[in-house]
Amino acid sequence: MLDGDDGELRDAIFLGVGDEGAPVFAIERDAVELTGLRELAVSLPAQQLGVIAYASAMANWARATRFCGTCGLATEPREGGHVRACGNGHQHHPRTDPVVIMLVTDGDRALLGRQAGWPAGRYSALAGFVEPGERLEDAVAREVEEESGLAVRDVRYIASQPWPFPVSLMLGFHATYAGGEIHRADEELEDVSWFTRAEIAAAVPGDMLWIDGAASDRLMLPPPTAIARLLIDHWVEQG
Ligand SMILES: [Zn+2]
Repeated sequence: MLDGDDGELRDAIFLGVGDEGAPVFAIERDAVELTGLRELAVSLPAQQLGVIAYASAMANWARATRFCGTCGLATEPREGGHVRACGNGHQHHPRTDPVVIMLVTDGDRALLGRQAGWPAGRYSALAGFVEPGERLEDAVAREVEEESGLAVRDVRYIASQPWPFPVSLMLGFHATYAGGEIHRADEELEDVSWFTRAEIAAAVPGDMLWIDGAASDRLMLPPPTAIARLLIDHWVEQG
């Protein structure tokens, strides 16, 4: 399997032992453009997505860590590519950036938002990066406030999903509306609106439409493999 040149072999990242008992490595090939990874991410089964997310996140981290952030020397891979070290012995470990994604609900309504560049009809749960020193619950409240002007309470963890763009972990929450009128403090989203349970249940399921970037004159939800959709389905089923 390892037919690359020496440089590629040296930079191979050990991912684990596969179902057949063979070791699995991630090797970055400059000649191969990883187009469609976002599309793959919403269409693959969770197990396959997990392997690809892992390989992509490790490769992204290795590429961004070619030089030591402490002294500036070039780094070399150690321990199967899971550590990178410079000549001065500074060691660097892979990191993950936490992102909170949350479905805010108010009885029979859920809050969804859309980005300006999205095809018509597409809406999803609000999301944003966790800031240094911040609790996840506070990150949920802050992002909702920034993107919609609303306050929330009862922030409850539901599920997570790795998201290798470039090295994120999406942490999914439900939160309950606690007050305020919709007012977008930043320009991150083009629209934020309440949708009733009936509107959401009658929406176009994203599936291939979402992956193909199609527009819709009706509300279009993220595909079933996306954590945003899991949060939405979970809430619809509760009703
Ligand atoms: Zn160093």
